[in-house]
Amino acid sequence: MKHVDEFRDPAKARALAAEIRQLARQIGRGPDNPLLVMEVCGGHTHAIFRYGIQQLLPDTIEFVHGPGCPVCVLPMGRVDDCVALAERPEVIFTTFGDAMRVPGSRKSLLKAKAEGADVRMVYSPLDALQLARDNPGREVIFFGLGFETTMPSTAMTVLEAKRQGIDNFSLFCNHITIIPTIKAILDSPGMQLDGFLGPGHVSMVIGTAPYQFIAQHYRKPLVVAGFEPLDVLQSLWMVLRQIVDGRCEIENQYGRIVPEHGNEVALRSVQEVFELREFFEWRGLGSIDHSGVRVREAYAQYDAERKFPVPNLKIADPKSCQCGEVLKGAIKPRDCKVFGTACTPQTPLGSLMVSSEGACAAYYQYARIDTSRLREDRQDKVSA
Ligand code: SF4
Repeated sequence: MKHVDEFRDPAKARALAAEIRQLARQIGRGPDNPLLVMEVCGGHTHAIFRYGIQQLLPDTIEFVHGPGCPVCVLPMGRVDDCVALAERPEVIFTTFGDAMRVPGSRKSLLKAKAEGADVRMVYSPLDALQLARDNPGREVIFFGLGFETTMPSTAMTVLEAKRQGIDNFSLFCNHITIIPTIKAILDSPGMQLDGFLGPGHVSMVIGTAPYQFIAQHYRKPLVVAGFEPLDVLQSLWMVLRQIVDGRCEIENQYGRIVPEHGNEVALRSVQEVFELREFFEWRGLGSIDHSGVRVREAYAQYDAERKFPVPNLKIADPKSCQCGEVLKGAIKPRDCKVFGTACTPQTPLGSLMVSSEGACAAYYQYARIDTSRLREDRQDKVSA
């Protein structure tokens, strides 16, 4: 296959969906006890909704939306830290666009920018490094965010800053790691997943070997999946095929992008610049051991947390937000009390409604929710 349309071929999608229905019948679950397959990555959540994949499936298969959207899992306290850094007069604070609108306890970066902070959107950490070169009298901070997918480009930028002797560039590091997160989900009490669609972009860097414990220890199948509709359907078919065969393996549907052993150059740069934190705070999931990285001592001069005072406060989410339950797959976005009413893409209360990979944004955008009905339903419940 060379062209993207071939990954969206409706006839092939219908044929795959028919085979999935056949496998589901063989597995024999009912609608009250459906097969639960977690798509770890927010990119998959959006593909499922955008292409109407759930509608092709029987009601005996349910997708559980996972925590693989790095903007969504950013805790409010870290957003407050970003704002505190951005409001320093000497600082140019640079970030990817997704993070601009994530609410902190006082304000978002976008609001800080509107109030005068020098916050600039960049497309790459190298753009931030260029800003540092162009503004030698200012301090340029890059907001490093994301899983192993974006970690290498940040690490390589730090290495480049050192090579060029640029000392007015630093990194506010919020990079996180996928494996401890999946483990935390598997260890959550009451979590009854039957299998996983594994993240495609992260796996492009780390490869497929690090997931082996999921099959060997937890006895769950995982298939690393691409992001086109046929990728998602084929990956789901592969998960179900394993269940029917009584196998638990790590398989790679996204072989055109994901090498078994990952990207060695990228992994080397990550290893050189970063080390694991003892723990990292996740929105709604609490503190997860070894789930984030920080800048190594050898590169301390590029670490914004060492260079500037950072409040580093733990801030609880607003009581009405149920982002954590959605991130853990315990409820669907539309079950959140404020979905589509107080929390919308225009007025987000939680980060899952902001990010282009957020589950709540996907439901709002593609699930054709009639929000006036939602409001009426909730008013009925309140007055009942
Ligand atoms: S609707 Fe808003 S508050 Fe509720 S889970 Fe989604 S993002 Fe969080």
